[in-house]
Amino acid sequence: MSEIYDVIIIGSGPSGLTAAVYSGRANLTTLLFEGWQPGGQLTTTTVVENFPGFKEGIQGTQLMMEMKEQAKRFGVEYVSKDVTKVDFSGNPKKIYVGDEEYQAKTVIISTGARPRMLGLESEKKFWAKGVSACATCDGFFFKDKVVAVMGGGDSAMEEANFLTKFATKVYIINRTDQFRASQIMLDRVKANEKIEMLSSKVVDEVLGDTKVTGLRLKDYASGEMSEIEVDGMFLAIGHIPVTELFKNEVELDSMGFVVQKENTMTSVSGVFSAGDVSDHRYRQAITSAGSGCMASIDAKKWLEDNK
Ligand code: NAP
Repeated sequence: MSEIYDVIIIGSGPSGLTAAVYSGRANLTTLLFEGWQPGGQLTTTTVVENFPGFKEGIQGTQLMMEMKEQAKRFGVEYVSKDVTKVDFSGNPKKIYVGDEEYQAKTVIISTGARPRMLGLESEKKFWAKGVSACATCDGFFFKDKVVAVMGGGDSAMEEANFLTKFATKVYIINRTDQFRASQIMLDRVKANEKIEMLSSKVVDEVLGDTKVTGLRLKDYASGEMSEIEVDGMFLAIGHIPVTELFKNEVELDSMGFVVQKENTMTSVSGVFSAGDVSDHRYRQAITSAGSGCMASIDAKKWLEDNK
């Protein structure tokens, strides 16, 4: 019979690792699966300047390494494998990696979300080198430059407005002439003189040799091609929560995010969630870390109440 852990955490972004620090420090036996992207989305950015405590900023990968080492100090064990199946129907809960079975009294789901991509090779080539999905993280690097935001929802409007603090000009590129964003957000960007909206266009290629120099745009209706000069592109075409594993186990909302029923607890008693996997709105490293702390405190309370 394998060990039954007090807590198993699935995912190793700021939420999972913060949950690990709190669980380890609370003397709970804790195992963490590092998940599809060890360290989470922060490992794909460069310097993180808005995580409190680092006045000069800190590299995303460095921040995650520090968190991992911090949790290790409190005895947290790590498994660098992807979970392939979960079974939350009984107690203990079961987690599988292929045929290997792991058991836990409580589980914290912190598998995060992936930004939706356009699927272009050039977008991959310039990822974190001119192409980003987070204006809050990377906007500062585009001081006095020209950038484009792809998307027509509230995120695109918010990102575009934010980017005008730095950039001299911001294009918003939407694939149709129907903007999904709320009227108030649309009014705000329309009133901003630095923003130009391009409708019925989609990015066909990110142009450049060693750095981004422009975008080739395809007219969504006619297929006609055109080019604009930009120094960077921000994707704001939605996020996809990483919840494929859980779809028959816990309640998900219509967009696939894990629903929290009571504080951070999901529809299954003893299973909690933290970070972007349940967060449509904030998606910041610090909010994610905070929710990891909350999930760990909720798991500890659940263990005390369900001895
Ligand atoms: P969203 O509302 O789903 O909008 C996604 C946008 O990306 C749409 O314009 C969509 O176009 C476009 N898109 C999707 N796939 C695409 C593709 N493959 N190629 C080109 N364009 C594509 O996502 P979101 O803006 O991230 O917002 C998510 C939720 O968070 C919403 O409920 C939003 O209201 C909320 N939010 C609120 C605030 C706020 O209130 N401050 C800020 C940010 C987000 P189509 O319309 O043609 O599908």
